[in-house]
This record gives sequence, C-alpha cells and structure tokens, in this order.
Amino acid sequence: MTSRDQSLYRPRGLVDVLQVPFIGRILKSRWGRLTLQVPLLVIAVLLIIDGFTGPQLAARNLATVAPWVHYRGLVVLVLLLAGNLFCMGCPFTLPRTLAKRLSLRGRRFPKALRNKWVAIAGLFILFLLYEWLDLWASPLLTAWVIVGYFAASFVLEAVFTESAFCKYVCPLGTFNFVYSTTSPTQISVKNPAVCQSCVGKECINGSYATQPVIRVDEIAGGGTKEVRHGPEGTLGCGTLLFAPQIRSNLECTMCLDCVRACPHDNVGLMLRQPGRELRQPGAWPQRWDVSFLIILLAAMGLTNAFGMVPPVYELQQSIAAGLNLNSELIILLIVFGVASLLIPVAVTLLAGALSRLLTNTSGKYSLREVVAAFAPSFVPIGLGIWIAHYTFHLLIGLWTIIPVFQEFIGMTGEWARFGGVSDAEIIGVIQLVGVVGGLLWSLMLAQRAAFRLFRREAAFGLLPWALFLLALAALAVWIFGLPMEMRGSLLFS
Ligand code: SF4
Ligand code: SF4
Repeated sequence: MTSRDQSLYRPRGLVDVLQVPFIGRILKSRWGRLTLQVPLLVIAVLLIIDGFTGPQLAARNLATVAPWVHYRGLVVLVLLLAGNLFCMGCPFTLPRTLAKRLSLRGRRFPKALRNKWVAIAGLFILFLLYEWLDLWASPLLTAWVIVGYFAASFVLEAVFTESAFCKYVCPLGTFNFVYSTTSPTQISVKNPAVCQSCVGKECINGSYATQPVIRVDEIAGGGTKEVRHGPEGTLGCGTLLFAPQIRSNLECTMCLDCVRACPHDNVGLMLRQPGRELRQPGAWPQRWDVSFLIILLAAMGLTNAFGMVPPVYELQQSIAAGLNLNSELIILLIVFGVASLLIPVAVTLLAGALSRLLTNTSGKYSLREVVAAFAPSFVPIGLGIWIAHYTFHLLIGLWTIIPVFQEFIGMTGEWARFGGVSDAEIIGVIQLVGVVGGLLWSLMLAQRAAFRLFRREAAFGLLPWALFLLALAALAVWIFGLPMEMRGSLLFS
C-alpha cells in the first residue's frame, strides 16, 4: 500500500478515543479487555444456569429474554453509534488466549474456507434453526446454543493459528463486522512513517515468543513504550489485520491487541465519519463472498422479520398443501432458502448485468466488479431493517429483564412495575425512521458508486440497484406494518 493509499483510508482528524482519560487508559491496559469480558462471561454463565435450571417460560427466563430481546436490540444501536463493542467484550474469545497460552494452536484455517461463504451459511442456518426450533421460546435450547458457542470457539482457536472462529465462522461476529462498517470509530495508525521503520511489526506478529526476552524498540520520533516479549507478551492481531493497512472495520473485533502490542504507541481507535469506508472504493476486497454477505444479510433481515407476521403461516400452509409436505423443517427451508438466498442472489446478478448492459460497459467491468461496487450500499438498508425489527422487541420488553432477574435470584418479580413501551405509534415511527433512513443512505451510496463507475451514464447504471433497494424498503415497510409476534414478552408467551 502506498503512503497515498494509507492517508486515503485513515480516518481524518485523528481523534483517538483511547486518549480519553480513564476509559482510554483502562482499555489500553494489559487486562483492559477483560474488564468488559468478565462481566459478559458472568452474564453468559447466568444465562446457562437459568436456561438449564430455570422456568421454561421464555418471558420469565434470563436465557431467552437477555439474548433475544435485549442483546439484539442493543447491538444494532451500539454498532451504529459507537462501534463493535460486543466483539470487544465477547466472552467467547476468552478461550483464544487460553488456547494460545496452552500452545495448542497449530495450522492455518483451510485455504478453501478462508472467505465469507462459511459465515453466510452459518447465518442462514442460525436464522433457520431460530424459526424451526423456536429458539426464542426455549430457554433450554438457547442455553445449549451458548454452550455450543464456547465449545466451538475454543476448539477452533485451539486448532488453528489465527482467530478462525471470529474471522470465518461466528454468525454473531459476522453480523457485527458487517454493520460496524457504519460505525464512527476505526482502528488506525497515528503516523505511517513510524510503521515503515518498525522492526518487529508487533501489531500483527505479537510480542509473544517462546523465549522470554525484554525488548524496548527505539525509533526516533516514534514515542516508544516497553513491550514485554515472551510467553506473557501481547498477542498480535487475531484476524491477521496489519494496522498500517487497515481500510475497514470488516474483520476487526476491536480487541485492541494491536494497540497493546505496538511498541511505538502508534495505534489508536480513531473517530471517523460514520460509514466512511462505505464510500471509499477499494476499502473492501472485490470478492463475491464479501458482496453476497452484505446483500444476503440485508435480505435475511427482511425474511427474519417476515417469519413473525401472519402471511408467513399462510405461505407455509399453501406450500405444505401444494407440495404435499408435512416436514416443518423442509417447508421452512423452502421459504427461507428462496427468500433469503435464491431470490436475492438472482436479483443481484440481474441488477449487475442490467447495469453493465444499460451503460454499455460489459467490456470494461466484470459482473463481479459491478456487484462489488454496489454491495456497500446494502449496508445501511440492511441495518435499518434490523434496527426496525430488533428495537421493536427491545422496546416492547425494555424493562422486563428486571423482574426476570428478580425471579432468578428468588425474589418476587415486579412485573406490573417494569414493563416496556406499549405505544405502537412510537414504535412504528422508530421502525419507519430506521427503514427510510437506511434507504436514503443506501441510495446516496449507490448513486456515488454509479457516478464513479459510469460517469455520464450513471443514471442508467444506478436504476436497477435503486429499484432493488426500493423493493427491499417497500417490503420492510409492508412487513413492519403487519401485526408482529411479541416474542419474549409475557403477552405472547
Ligand atoms: S502499528 Fe506499531 S507495531 Fe505495527 S507496524 Fe506500525 S509501529 Fe510497528
Ligand atoms: S488486533 Fe486486529 S482485530 Fe484487534 S483491534 Fe487491532 S486490528 Fe482489530
């Protein structure tokens, strides 16, 4: 990457969140991440205990209320307003450090799987299981999902050299990666010149070494700090991002290992314009798997919400009758496979082909390049749809976590005192703002991509994509206008 590229992709202004007194110091400290992870680990353990031993009524159990009502609602808002704080505090990554210390890690993740196809499949399977097994209604099954998460992350971290679980597999992390591209924060180096003369590249290599060595790097003007090399040293970037070349949040877990490992104090968590990378050509790799991850996740947002409104049951009944099927899994597979995968893939390819045809640029751009150029514009509409869906559940059950917790510790739950927002109009306005706001942002991005690619023919190149985005928004408005199951609320359970 040239120095021009480096300055292009680095957030402007260089306001480093880690310079904020107290908070910055805690986050940068050796045990900084643990201050977030330990509370979340405690919460995860409580959910498992309540899931296995508590009442099997969804609205009265921590295992169902906390993840399906509160976690999901908060995560979309935090991603938009702050950054990927949930990956930063993720308790599932604790096994990574343990596995490293135990020296169990060996080979790299298989080359054929070093892409986003596994993550797309994982997201689809998670949403399918969510509907088929009614995960939101089963504390026991939700507890098993959490246990399975810990086991899977430990095994993958123990077996492979990089943070394979976070980077290639984890559906929650993948969701966070995608929508953290809208965040107002990004990891970046402060001075690229310091990196050019840096010897150890500890931000990616880590200062972990089998032989204990104490080393203090000294580079003129770099502002050095002591980094302990040895078995107690700091890990390098688990997802193999090299700090001076970071262009995007797409695979950053915000673990801050690079910040702690850099001996020159040259890495920060910089403020940037929200979603800055979505406007920057070249910020993302032009790969089919990355483009389809973005577009399909927006479509999954729509179908996930569709799974909660009355027409889905009518559709399932007509498929069962028409095809003479009685397996609910097969019927759900047909509904969600067609709506989440087949139709969006077909429409994406059609939009890309039409763009090239209408602008007569088939010889200039490949279909993959055109799809990759417009894929970032599906992030805001996708996020808007997820916000509309998840804030609905969050607002309906906003304070119910309090009586659920009271009952968990043996008190009498004050259900009459702690409820949620019952004004359907307020919730409806928030949902509309989410979808329309997402649509406008998406159209703006698509328009920029069209001008960049097609110049004077931009309007023709934009047309198929604008129609695609409008169709997603129109479907979202229709779905959210229908009566929705109030999952996780006593009204429903
Ligand atoms: S970020 Fe720090 S460790 Fe990484 S190359 Fe730059 S100076 Fe070296
Ligand atoms: S070490 Fe990697 S994943 Fe962690 S904050 Fe730095 S760039 Fe992001």
